[in-house]
Amino acid sequence: MSNQYIYTFGNGSAEGKGSMKELLGGKGANLAEMSSLGLPVPPGFTITTDVCRYYYANSKTAPKDLDKQIKTALAWVEKQVGKTFGSTEKPLLVSVRSGAPASMPGMMDTILNLGLNEETVEALAKQSGNARFAWDSYRRFIQMYSNVVLDLDHSHFEELLDEKKNEIGKHEDTDLTAEDWQEVVSRYKSLVQKESGKPFPSEPMDQLRQAVEAVFRSWNNRRAITYRRLHDISDEMGTAVNVQAMVFGNMGEDCATGVVFTRNPSTGEKVLYGEYLINAQGEDVVAGIRTPQPLINGDGSMESKMPKVFKQLLDTCKKLEGHYRDLQDIEFTVEQEKLWMLQTRNGKRSAPAAVKIAVDLVKEKILKPEEALLRVEPETLDQLLHPQLDPSVKLEILTNGLPASPGAACGKIVFTAEEAESQAKKNEKVILVRLETSPEDIQGMHSSVGILTARGGMTSHAAVVARGMGKPCICGAGELQINHKENSLTVRGITLKQGDIITINGSTGEVIRGDVPTITPTLSPEFLQLMEWADKYRRMGVRANAETPLDAETARKFGAMGIGLCRTEHMFFDKERITAMRAWIVTEDVTIRQAMLDMLLPYQLDDFTQLFTIMKGLPVTIRLLDPPLHEFLPVTEADRKEVAALAKVSPDYVLHRCHALEEQNPMLGHRGCRLGITYPELYEMQLRAIFTAAIRVSKKLGETVIPEIMIPLVMMPEELKHLKAMATRIAEEIFAKEGKKLDYLFGAMIELPAAALMADELSEYSDFFSFGTNDLTQTTLGVSRDDAGKFLEEYRKLGLIEQDPFVSVDQSRVGKLMQMAVKSSRGVKAKIKLGICGEQAGNPRTIHFCETSGLDYVSCSPYRVPVARLAAAQATLTGGVKQLANAA
Ligand code: ADP
Ligand code: MG
Ligand code: MG
Repeated sequence: MSNQYIYTFGNGSAEGKGSMKELLGGKGANLAEMSSLGLPVPPGFTITTDVCRYYYANSKTAPKDLDKQIKTALAWVEKQVGKTFGSTEKPLLVSVRSGAPASMPGMMDTILNLGLNEETVEALAKQSGNARFAWDSYRRFIQMYSNVVLDLDHSHFEELLDEKKNEIGKHEDTDLTAEDWQEVVSRYKSLVQKESGKPFPSEPMDQLRQAVEAVFRSWNNRRAITYRRLHDISDEMGTAVNVQAMVFGNMGEDCATGVVFTRNPSTGEKVLYGEYLINAQGEDVVAGIRTPQPLINGDGSMESKMPKVFKQLLDTCKKLEGHYRDLQDIEFTVEQEKLWMLQTRNGKRSAPAAVKIAVDLVKEKILKPEEALLRVEPETLDQLLHPQLDPSVKLEILTNGLPASPGAACGKIVFTAEEAESQAKKNEKVILVRLETSPEDIQGMHSSVGILTARGGMTSHAAVVARGMGKPCICGAGELQINHKENSLTVRGITLKQGDIITINGSTGEVIRGDVPTITPTLSPEFLQLMEWADKYRRMGVRANAETPLDAETARKFGAMGIGLCRTEHMFFDKERITAMRAWIVTEDVTIRQAMLDMLLPYQLDDFTQLFTIMKGLPVTIRLLDPPLHEFLPVTEADRKEVAALAKVSPDYVLHRCHALEEQNPMLGHRGCRLGITYPELYEMQLRAIFTAAIRVSKKLGETVIPEIMIPLVMMPEELKHLKAMATRIAEEIFAKEGKKLDYLFGAMIELPAAALMADELSEYSDFFSFGTNDLTQTTLGVSRDDAGKFLEEYRKLGLIEQDPFVSVDQSRVGKLMQMAVKSSRGVKAKIKLGICGEQAGNPRTIHFCETSGLDYVSCSPYRVPVARLAAAQATLTGGVKQLANAA
């Protein structure tokens, strides 16, 4: 650890810079950067994350030199602003602000106006000629300090303030006079004395030391830990602390505080977007205490009220966006018509905005396409593809609020975060309805499908967090009256109770009664552009797992380059087919069995004809029948009767056969190619259907159709050799019959460790392998996917595993087997085609792993195809090393 614990910034220079986020935190690094750019930043200093780590490593004590360095830095700040900390003439006040390397909005608390006490408040009043402002600042300080450092709840203070307002018959903070605030301060102090057993600290240096330590402590408060867990942020990083000279937005009508995004973070549109409040301080805008005014358009806007400062803000936004080459989320304060910059960071944005901004920045020549591709988190594309409200349905609009985060959601009303969590555990879809949200609600927000608040603006806590989570959100629906005692809400005379269903449209701000049907969205030109770039830069192919014509069409629409897995077992569950299939299974009479398969053949032929037709010459990998037979067996008596009739046996015999076919451990039993080997007529039927369909479609369309035949659950080369001979024989038979030859591929699904170990020998009989990572994970780890829920989540919480191995490939075990198989098979057959078709194939982290492992393609569910195309492009561009887009 270096001995420089502190970096100063302000007045056009800084010791740190924007790239030093790890050491200075995001906020500190950007304050330094803005300072060096010559922007007006109140002078201050950053205490490094090193100190936070030291604090936790040394039983919560600070390094011994820290105090001295703080004093030196403070003296530097005093010199810059011409005020003195604790002075009874020109007192310097500071803010103490947390700031971690990864952005954690609203997760840790800020203290403003630190340095005030009975003497300095008088000095501030005298020096500013504004006693009201001085006492207002003092009461704010006491409340914030008490909350952050002394752990006293905000609500205690709010009650006292309400009491005072009632006594004097006033409603708004702005109606209170200097004397009122002075009285509030003295009540606050008694409260602190009573609750903490000690007087409120008056010595400024003491206040500062305690505040700094409280920021370190807040790194490990519950909501910070929750936020880190939800966003995959390491607990080890620690936070920095920023101590900064105060500037005041609460000194009068020529003062203000606000938040601005350089573009609309909801739509991506290139217009300034934000809110401000006149005569207000700090968190007033975000907390939703008063409803803020827009920056542009309208009488109350900053543009019309403070045109000169607004122009300056506009220029600054442009400068910052150009400098950071990305959407900026900026906090500012105006003190007596002077603009001060307090924060900038890469702004959080909705999925559509992320795509639009990335593509627009290329058009504006600020980014190259390769860079734009890295700016969009692949997972978020998911939201663009999913259904939206059907516009043809007549809506019963209950009320309107601000469209704070796009998309539509429908669910049961709940009024508390706890209720949301407990309903979500029961798989209920809920909409969290609150007056406003706070960081304590974060888990409940996560459990909800949508969020609706009565108060707060587009930059309120609810809005920011919902956009980050990609959930629909409506804010500031002021007509909602929430009655917590009754667990109900009333709006325009209608009362709804907890559990009643509403729909919210976060793109328009409409709150709708009941359940509204949804439709699939159209894809924006920017989305299509980004996908085109993704296809240009990615090395791996992207296919889809699909078996129905609808899935295949969706896959094509989303840009799949073929089908990587067609699971044929799903094709036998149709009413007409299942009885024949069952009859085939139960009877032991060879002629009847053949007759049943003859019945099934035309169906299969039709299935494959449709798939090949839709896929128009793109590769289609068909997996021959895989699952254990018992999955097909008749369960009800009626079913058994039907089967008995068709198979010409008695229902009792059917029952007897069902028992006989029962297995102890079906997943490791008579399934996969074991079936095809012991009941060859089944695979023969499927092969006939595949070859016939392929030849007929290629004749008809004039396209080359190249089927890829995939053998499931292979454990040794002998099986593959045996089945390859079968495939060759059936191919010849069909070629002769149809009078046309056809190229086809034959390969194995690698889903047992045995197969991975034998990959070199298997490759002699294979044109391709596809890693079936669902079964490969189960069989490598010895973990059944259906039973894993009971313990894997606990493992994750304890930090024993990083991610669910069924969501993202377990790289050190399953992945290791995959890489061994890649190496050994390529050693024998350099050109063998290698892919992956497990559920994990649509997971960006897994895709990066596949890139580094040298696979040729990934195959995922149709809706994941765009996600996979983008993730594959990012993997190529970063050499397979996973980077987080927009890491602020
Ligand atoms: P958060 O991380 O929750 O955004 P900040 O540290 O940015 O917390 O502080 C919140 C707000 O407090 C800022 O947006 C700003 O309005 C106000 N603030 C912080 N420091 C100062 C300061 N030195 N002078 C005036 N206002 C400040
Ligand atoms: Mg805050
Ligand atoms: Mg901030």
